[in-house]
Amino acid sequence: MHTGYVWNPLMAWHDTGTSAGLFKPSPLAGIQPGEHFEHPDTKRRLAELIETSGLLWHLDRMDPLPIEREDLERVHDATYLDWLERTSADGGGRVDGSSPFGQGSYQIACLAAGSTASAMDAVLEGWVDNAYALTRPPGHHARRKGGLGFCLINNVAVAIARSIARGDAERVAVVDFDVHHGNGTQDIFYADPNVLTISLHQDQLFPANSGHLHETGVGPGVGANLNVPLPPGSGRGAYLTAFDDVVLPALHRFAPDVIVVAAGYDAGAYDPLGRQMLTSATYREMTRKLLAAADELCDGHLVASHEGGYSPWAVPFHGLAVVEELAGTRTGVADPFARSFATAGQQDLQPHQRTAIDKAANLVANIPSPHAGHQPR
Ligand SMILES: [Zn+2]
Repeated sequence: MHTGYVWNPLMAWHDTGTSAGLFKPSPLAGIQPGEHFEHPDTKRRLAELIETSGLLWHLDRMDPLPIEREDLERVHDATYLDWLERTSADGGGRVDGSSPFGQGSYQIACLAAGSTASAMDAVLEGWVDNAYALTRPPGHHARRKGGLGFCLINNVAVAIARSIARGDAERVAVVDFDVHHGNGTQDIFYADPNVLTISLHQDQLFPANSGHLHETGVGPGVGANLNVPLPPGSGRGAYLTAFDDVVLPALHRFAPDVIVVAAGYDAGAYDPLGRQMLTSATYREMTRKLLAAADELCDGHLVASHEGGYSPWAVPFHGLAVVEELAGTRTGVADPFARSFATAGQQDLQPHQRTAIDKAANLVANIPSPHAGHQPR
């Protein structure tokens, strides 16, 4: 088993400045300056744990690919890219009220997109079996017209569009388990029947009024977008049932050439922004299910790209579990956070969660399938 791994420390230098978590500090209004939620340590500590645990020696370390302007323009408007590049060169700005960026963040965002593209190339060209791109800034909220929600450039979208343009893949499925809706990826591929976008997220968390069941695609892309809004408080039972009853049947119906995982860890129980209850054990189980699906459907082709996750203490253990599963090895490092929430109340599937998952499961039959005779409803 060969697992590719991409990380460049410059991605930790993307500067989100001083902040009160989400908000601009405003001392006169009582808002004390502190750190931004999207702080380098949520990713840097995972990179360091991958190295100190010894897992790095089981991985094929790869560099980010250089990303060209045409790679970006496949998924983002030129006017936005011009603004982002100029503003970043001028010292930084904000893509929304809660999403600051600093000097050079444009180049660092290109490095993040190049990391996912590097992982994608290595998998599709057969250099590795699967790959993990540890990226920062994250990407899945960035829409065609611009960045949003800490995301400047949509890393997975750049990598997918590039691979399709190069003829390396025809059909790509995205499984996004970040606690927030993968609205940017949905937006970019909304009319595309060859990219299935599946997002499991906490119902009505972020962005506002986004990630509904009825958002299924447009034009030729109808059916190829599948949202699975889960109630707050969802834990192991809800997530694994959503995988068994929605995600895996959807992947089998769509039959992709590669599965791209938008791996956010903010559905973790200790996350400051999400209200779900996952532990590293559940991230491990979800990864196993995705690997099994990739083995059955597409020669094991699976690329994971890091998204959100805002507990600098817990995220490294979630990410370690996922990368261990990809590499088929265990470091022996135990997650000290897992124990307390593993036995928390309502980790098992609850009736209202069952109802929410059933509604999403009903949409699987509408996914465009390459199998003969199928016409999307
Ligand atoms: Zn998120």
